[in-house]
Amino acid sequence: MSESVSHPPSPSATPVTGRGFHAMVKPIGPICNLDCKYCYYLEKEKLYPRNDRFRMPPEVLERYIREYIAAQPGPEVNFAWQGGEPTLLGVGFFEEVVALEKKYGDGRKITNALQTNGTRLDDAWGEFLAREGFLVGISIDGPPDLHNTWRVDKRGRDSSPEVLRGLEVLHKHGVETNTLTVLNRTNAAEPERVYDYLTRELGSKYLQFIPLVERKANTAARALELDLAPPPDPSRTAAKDEAEARVTPWSVLPSQFGEFLVRVFDRWVRRDVGQVFVQLFDVQLGHWMGSGPGLCVFAPTCGNAVAMEHNGDVYSCDHYVYPDFKLGNLMEAPLADLINQPRQVAFGDAKRDTLPRQCRECRYLFACHGECPKHRFIRSKHGEPGLNYLCEGYYRFFEHADPYFTAMARLIRQGRTASDIMPMVIEEDRRQAAAAPPNRNAPCPCGSGRKFKACCGKAATA
Ligand code: SF4
Ligand code: SF4
Repeated sequence: MSESVSHPPSPSATPVTGRGFHAMVKPIGPICNLDCKYCYYLEKEKLYPRNDRFRMPPEVLERYIREYIAAQPGPEVNFAWQGGEPTLLGVGFFEEVVALEKKYGDGRKITNALQTNGTRLDDAWGEFLAREGFLVGISIDGPPDLHNTWRVDKRGRDSSPEVLRGLEVLHKHGVETNTLTVLNRTNAAEPERVYDYLTRELGSKYLQFIPLVERKANTAARALELDLAPPPDPSRTAAKDEAEARVTPWSVLPSQFGEFLVRVFDRWVRRDVGQVFVQLFDVQLGHWMGSGPGLCVFAPTCGNAVAMEHNGDVYSCDHYVYPDFKLGNLMEAPLADLINQPRQVAFGDAKRDTLPRQCRECRYLFACHGECPKHRFIRSKHGEPGLNYLCEGYYRFFEHADPYFTAMARLIRQGRTASDIMPMVIEEDRRQAAAAPPNRNAPCPCGSGRKFKACCGKAATA
């Protein structure tokens, strides 16, 4: 495998886990101290009784840890803790998590990933997370002005000062971190500024970019008193129509998404390969190398990445925490049985079986597989429903990155490193610049001070 793909993904990206399954656990449900304007999960509070404490009871926690470990086929078991904001539970809750993992670990290697907004981290957290080897994903959307556009606290105040303080705590204690950046309509318009801030100012070496796509409330949402539309049912795409493509004003635009990926890729491929690991690029390079999908969204089928709420309710996926997609409750049936039931298998297979012709005939099907069913709500060029809203952006990126990934894959097969691409790209840039016709509006090289087009175009002589 390449020198990339070397860092475990944060819980917000769902790795494909062989024959096992992956669970994203929400021990505090949707409760959070922030009030990010684009958050799709905060409103899930309405799915639970008003007097719910939203704290995972000890018996649910213990049963979950025992069953999750037992159900994993390999020698390594990865736990993913998310929210809401899981750090609101306090360090004590996670000390109990670690104690239970040791109790039921059965000699396996156990790892933990925690996704946090970072604002509640202090030295006690830093010491604990470092000691227990947690991988911490910190949500940060770029420079403060871009981050604070959407990520604010309950009083509408900027969250970036507290996030940066939390990140400093993690660095101080040597906690392994990655950054998760939600690409929305604001920050996606500034690719270089976002990328440079994350990599140069914050020193992030492991980056995730997650496209924000939410649709305005429809009939199904209103029935649940929710403000955002549930994603399309993967098995019923034929019933969908374009009316449901009304995305929220903060959702990234498909063209913007493609442009963002292309421009960040262009920066990365010239200066950061082998030093900075952008999850989407790593995973795609893997596809160009012929390896299997690294993330559920790019896999042919899905269904083995479930979400579990604080009370043990298990849902088909983190993006499908809705009554129609509830598989059952951990306290009523074994976790493995909930996940292996036919309706969940059908949920995952529908990802492949409902692909529109445009995807089936796409030259980048091997890399994309129609991406996530959550985003499949527009019509294809053949008029079929169920095309991915982000298709235009993904296609643009794949087309742009194809020659680079092809070259990198060849280098790796030759026993070289992917980073050997960088001098090749720079040399090609230089060659093209030298061969390019001069800019007729640029100053004339003779030094006259006049525009090239109004002068001689000859180089100055000494
Ligand atoms: S619906 Fe499928 S592809 Fe999309 S996030 Fe969930 S598991 Fe992954
Ligand atoms: S790039 Fe577009 S057409 Fe191709 S597989 Fe992805 S969503 Fe389908």
